Amino acid sequence: MNILLLGSGGREHALAWKMAASPLTDRLYCAPGNAGIAREAECVALDPADPAAVILFCRSASIDFVVVGPEAPLCVGIVDDLEAAGIKAFGPSRAAARLEGSKGFTKDLCRANAIPTAAYERFTAAAAAKAYVHARGAPIVVKADGLAAGKGVVVAQSVAEAEAAVDMMFSGALGDAGAEVVVEEFLDGEEASFFALCDGETAIPLTTAQDHKRVYDGDRGPNTGGMGAYSPAPNIDAAMSARVMAEIIEPTMRAMRAAGTPYKGVLYAGLMITREGPKLIEYNVRFGDPETQVLMLRLMSDLVPALLASRDGQLRSFDLRWYAEPALTVVMAAKGYPGQYARGTAIEGLDAAAAVEGVEIFHAGTRAEGDKIVANGGRVLNVSAVGKTVRQAQKRAYEAISLIRWPDGFCRHDIGWRAIERETT
Ligand code: AMP
Repeated sequence: MNILLLGSGGREHALAWKMAASPLTDRLYCAPGNAGIAREAECVALDPADPAAVILFCRSASIDFVVVGPEAPLCVGIVDDLEAAGIKAFGPSRAAARLEGSKGFTKDLCRANAIPTAAYERFTAAAAAKAYVHARGAPIVVKADGLAAGKGVVVAQSVAEAEAAVDMMFSGALGDAGAEVVVEEFLDGEEASFFALCDGETAIPLTTAQDHKRVYDGDRGPNTGGMGAYSPAPNIDAAMSARVMAEIIEPTMRAMRAAGTPYKGVLYAGLMITREGPKLIEYNVRFGDPETQVLMLRLMSDLVPALLASRDGQLRSFDLRWYAEPALTVVMAAKGYPGQYARGTAIEGLDAAAAVEGVEIFHAGTRAEGDKIVANGGRVLNVSAVGKTVRQAQKRAYEAISLIRWPDGFCRHDIGWRAIERETT
């Protein structure tokens, strides 16, 4: 098959790495890709947000299957457009992508189907939202309804902070995403990321991960897209996984089917494991980043037939196999991220770093300049490793990082600490 992958981050590099290894893959293209992806796929200068251009390219390159990485094109209906043009595509339709595109939509779906989630209300004006904040008290969580590139959630420790978040969102600081706001109960517990592959009818659990969202060691500082991750999540055993499927994923699949918008693609549930059990924090309608980097290192089976089975509605009898060994990834970011940062700084030593046992380096934001690799984004590299334990995977990843010469980059030094603490006790 000729396959086109849409996206340019570390998630797409990991997907490209896995798909390039499939015997089903004839030619693999990625749009727009990056310097690391270029080793696995032919990168094409296409805007994934321009469906007409994507369709034109698919026709000219005889593309049999399109795999969509990021949420933005999914939420505006790239899969609908491709399928209408007769091109098979992996991912949810625009209507099904509302599970990520509208937090209010998902909260209402949870309420209507008794799916465990934080208590909430939806608001279209600041005064009513603030009255609710006052009535509930802090801590409390304020969320923009729409896609806000990770900036749409404020976990407020005080009523004043929550009010400021309400004002910020309704002031238009987040654009249309903040035209509606969800205010919800603060959930206490430990988070986990749960991934299921869905074909509209059937959902099969993939595996789990935990990530580190804060920029500094000790899980301090501002939120980011993710500074590192490891898989599996130590707080999801087989029994918990079965509960998540029965209480959260399967009722969602039934509700989406009943609404005439069956869910296909990867369903990524952000969970809080509370004393009462698993609760849904949010859905994402695509693979996680950087979680995919560790998922792909642990996936033993061929990825391509699984993605095809999701598209074709053939997951019922499908089985995916995983390595038991954990995997861990450390994000190297440009200094200043998640604030202002420079592009174009030179990175050296990647080949030596990649030669460390068990290590795989995925590029998240790089560009080739002649035979040099330069940074081209906030999150730039995902230095990933497998090991017999999380501790060993961590040791290998940081050993590789010590060989990378990039004075303009930084990383956290404690990725995996919670899992390693569990291993040692
Ligand atoms: P989200 O974008 O909805 O995943 O939210 C980003 C982060 O905010 C989550 O990963 C949690 O750490 C935190 N968060 C969101 N909602 C809640 C909640 N109801 N209670 C506690 N923490 C939350």
